[in-house]
Amino acid sequence: MPTPSVNKVQINLAALRHNYLQLQEVVGNHVRLLPMVKANAYGHGLVPTARALYEAGARAFGVAEIEEGVRLREAGVAGEIIVFLGVMPAGFADLLRCDLSPVVFGRDTVEALSAFAVQAGKKVGVHVKMDVGMGRLGALPHEFQPLLETVGKLPGVYLAGVMSHLPLADNPEEKLTLAHGSTFFEAISAAEQSGKGRVAHIANSAALLRFPKLHYDMVRPGIALYGYYPSARLREEAAVKLRPAMSFKSCVIQVKELPAGRGVSYGHAFVTQRPTRLAVVSAGYDDGYSRRLTGRAVVLIGGRRVPVLGTICMNACMADVTELDRVEVGDEVVLLGMQGREEITADEIAGWLGTISYEVLCLFGACNRHEYIDED
Ligand SMILES: *Cc1c(COP(=O)(O)O)cnc(C)c1O
Repeated sequence: MPTPSVNKVQINLAALRHNYLQLQEVVGNHVRLLPMVKANAYGHGLVPTARALYEAGARAFGVAEIEEGVRLREAGVAGEIIVFLGVMPAGFADLLRCDLSPVVFGRDTVEALSAFAVQAGKKVGVHVKMDVGMGRLGALPHEFQPLLETVGKLPGVYLAGVMSHLPLADNPEEKLTLAHGSTFFEAISAAEQSGKGRVAHIANSAALLRFPKLHYDMVRPGIALYGYYPSARLREEAAVKLRPAMSFKSCVIQVKELPAGRGVSYGHAFVTQRPTRLAVVSAGYDDGYSRRLTGRAVVLIGGRRVPVLGTICMNACMADVTELDRVEVGDEVVLLGMQGREEITADEIAGWLGTISYEVLCLFGACNRHEYIDED
């Protein structure tokens, strides 16, 4: 094996299981958890994450595309796998072969899928999606009932679930989510006669934490399973204590003393104001450490928070370690996660970048090798 990159995203499987069990406690044993493991499990690694959550009790998983469902099956992951972006005819064969359940929102697809399934001698469970206000995928409320009737009449498909998705639930100030919930509830109640044995689900992490009324049969947490709250307010107010599962670590590859008045990195955006001890860190924007963090970022070295100086490069950035007693080549640098008593969270990095924790996790996860640990 060639020497691996010094950069790694470290995933604590114990934290994933902990978060799963915490959320199961919030919803109670009569409500199922459907972990959303789309986007490579928010950067945490699709298969290892699904396996850890299966161990914690999960028997259903949410992915975005067919290909992710296929990867789960090929890794031997059992349980229901729901494909949230639905399926197009090119994906029908894999869908049936791997026993995946698509979300459906249009009549043509359901009819084509029905014909394909009948040919193959199989029956496919589908989750019919309603758009209660997201303005994204889903049948509009007036199209929902006819779509359910279509599914009910067609051979080769059956109604495994009815669902919707909430656009505003992460905003603690908003007042519309319960109304969205009512639109959904009224539609599925009206369709009760066609709904034997199917599950209903609408709640993401935010709705799971805020609205017990919206739990229905199953909830679909994503971000909360990875240890983050959908909003700062929920971080303070939620009854559960979640644990971030991802860390991003690099190391020091040179230490040097610069006099005052020296420019650091491209463009000399930073000039030393005093004699400065600089640690060159082996991570840059190719590793997901965005150049837009320039001038804002802080990293952990020797258990202390130290600022990143100057422009972030493709494969390196520079930290000011003047205040530290001892720094050596090879020392660990934590860009996300804990070191000693200090912590940098994905929320903090998201604040520097003007985005949300979700994107930070996806970014770091997509750009780095993964290492799995299991630590309480
Ligand atoms: C991603 C996603 C979720 C999970 O959302 P979180 O805010 O991460 O909990 C739930 N439902 C659907 C349809 C999604 O696409």
